[in-house]
Amino acid sequence: AKLLGKARRVVFDPAMYAQAVERLALERDLRHGLERGEFQIYYQPVLDVRTRRPVEVEALVRWHHPERGLISPGEFIPIAEETGLIVPLGHWVLAEACRQLAAWRTAFPDCAPSAVSVNLSARQFRHPSLTADIAQILAETGLPPASLKLEITESVMMDDTASTLEALRDLKQLGVQLAVDDFGTGYSSLSYLKRFPTDAMKIDRSFARGLDQSREDQALVEAMIAAANALRLQVTVEGVETEEQLEFLERVGCDLVQGFLFAPPMPPDEVARFLHTGLQT
Ligand code: C2E
Ligand code: CA
Ligand code: CA
Ligand code: CA
Repeated sequence: AKLLGKARRVVFDPAMYAQAVERLALERDLRHGLERGEFQIYYQPVLDVRTRRPVEVEALVRWHHPERGLISPGEFIPIAEETGLIVPLGHWVLAEACRQLAAWRTAFPDCAPSAVSVNLSARQFRHPSLTADIAQILAETGLPPASLKLEITESVMMDDTASTLEALRDLKQLGVQLAVDDFGTGYSSLSYLKRFPTDAMKIDRSFARGLDQSREDQALVEAMIAAANALRLQVTVEGVETEEQLEFLERVGCDLVQGFLFAPPMPPDEVARFLHTGLQT
């Protein structure tokens, strides 16, 4: 076995090598990208199911790479997470999203979103200065804490340690809103939810897709929404792409929806136009 192990090490796999080099390059670029201001936040409107009007926005980060063009977060967030660069990047996203919401409120007092949602990574969530950093950002932007909603994935939130609960309570105490993101993709039971001080549940977009073909997915979504309502959690379904999905969600008591049916994530000026005209389907 030892010999084999040694032999394996000298086998050159060009594909794997290329992948490793690519990763290292991205890691290096990520470090500089933040200093050079290559990141931008797109915002996706979140609509009230009943009024079909935009009420909130979710901040989704984009990277304008000097050679590769626009890179989606699915590609660089995992690297940022592993290297720890997510901490300064995430801080920038929080500060910029709060600054943007405050600016919209000044510019359009009547149709500015009631909240901006920001995704928190596991590493950011566990960082000891998170609550203090957020408090400082809120103070600097003058934004009421309830205008900021933090999205924490089910898997991070349900990692049932004392420190998780403590971190959630600290944030709650600050007055920000807490949402369980990607709900339904983890292993937690619905009853788990009531132990956490959360305000909102976001059902993963894989379920919206399933609504069209699968009775099981319909039943699951209905059950998740019923549980959210019973626990008085505001419930959002993401990835809504068709009128049929929207009608189903309205019937079963979903509060908020976001998806390509209404609008994709957009740069701030386009979002402002969307909020202004408020013209939906
Ligand atoms: P997420 O939090 O689940 O965000 C929703 C994703 O679904 C977004 O992808 C959005 O563009 C996409 N989406 C929205 N509506 C539809 C639809 O109708 N159909 C389909 N097929 N997709 C839709 P995006 O922007 O590529 O972000 C991917 C993930 O990257 C996010 O998933 C989130 O987990 C992560 N992410 C984005 N920005 C940040 C950030 O600032 N910090 C952290 N930690 N993670 C981020
Ligand atoms: Ca999210
Ligand atoms: Ca999701
Ligand atoms: Ca509700």
